[in-house]
Amino acid sequence: MSRIVGIDLGTTNSLVAYMDHGTPRVIAGRHERTMVPSVVALTDNGLIVGDPAKEHLTRHPERTVYSVKRFMGKGLADVQDELAYFPYTLTEKGGVIRIQLGEKSYSPPQISAMILKELKLRAEAALGESITKAVITVPAYFNDSQRQATKDAGMIAGLEVLRIINEPTAASLAYGLQEKTQGTIAVYDLGGGTFDISILKLKNGIFEVLATNGDTHLGGDDFDRVIADLFLADIHAQHGLALAAYPDHMQALRLEAERAKMRLSDETRTTVQLDLPEGTGRFMRELTREQLESLCLPLVERTLGPCRQALKDAGLAPHEIDEVVLVGGSTRMPLVRQRVHALFGKQPHCNLNPDEVVALGAAVQADILSGGTTDMLLLD
Ligand code: AMP
Repeated sequence: MSRIVGIDLGTTNSLVAYMDHGTPRVIAGRHERTMVPSVVALTDNGLIVGDPAKEHLTRHPERTVYSVKRFMGKGLADVQDELAYFPYTLTEKGGVIRIQLGEKSYSPPQISAMILKELKLRAEAALGESITKAVITVPAYFNDSQRQATKDAGMIAGLEVLRIINEPTAASLAYGLQEKTQGTIAVYDLGGGTFDISILKLKNGIFEVLATNGDTHLGGDDFDRVIADLFLADIHAQHGLALAAYPDHMQALRLEAERAKMRLSDETRTTVQLDLPEGTGRFMRELTREQLESLCLPLVERTLGPCRQALKDAGLAPHEIDEVVLVGGSTRMPLVRQRVHALFGKQPHCNLNPDEVVALGAAVQADILSGGTTDMLLLD
């Protein structure tokens, strides 16, 4: 039987993984980067995908599509509240959203297919064989038309989608939780722009979604914004400069804020540096983890309300959760880990890379389907 790959088709980044002699592995591209940014841009030379497309986000926002996952299986009326967030043009045809890129318009599955094709090519190059079959993950709250749109994207990309599985189920598989035969699992997923909490019940190898909740506009980008705001105020106080008038410097400031945040997941203090415009000098300051945490605490607290609601909807108290799994790059923050640990009263699973865990689990599911893991029946 030909090889089946596992794909995490994410809002911000996408990944492809496969089973390598019993161990799931994510496939890296150039520069050993495992994530393909879920971005498609129209350039003078045609459509481009991933890292090169991301470069166009600030320069050509009107022809650079990101977060297309938010539009999968939806009509324009469903996304009215989202429109303000997006600089590219959305229209509708036959009840389906179309995304305008230059002269042409594309459906969300067509754009997603470009991302999937990039992952397919990456897998083919790494594994040296043609890849035509995949398992693709979706959020637990995706409805039938969003799941169908994901399958359509696979088909357009030349992939037979053997199974669509829920992201929290995939994360649980990556940690081998199916081997426990039963229990309740909370999957806390905090990425760059979205937060999802899912409560699952595992019984005899079957994962059932008991409840989901979250916030579709809460994540690491918000942490970056509060840090950047602190720096902006500092720059104004120290240099009398309103940096907001300089878009390139604002972008550099946001990136520096993100880098400082990431360093503070491993260190307790860091130095931030930024060249200011028109020879007005250089901004420098120290940021401690403690300062970062006091800035971000209200945002982290905002994730706990949906967790409590999901527990309530599942009819469970926090201590009745047997396993807690962390997903998404923002769960590397010690503050996030502490708050989640405190809420559920148990140590969350966090030793796998939180950006890769969903793709790894998709590869485990792919392996089960291809008969590599023969003693397991798995349903979702
Ligand atoms: P994801 O959408 O899961 O790829 O998560 C991306 C988010 O994770 C971005 O907001 C990143 O800034 C954030 N992130 C990645 N690494 C770290 C880290 N070491 N500490 C804190 N946040 C991180």
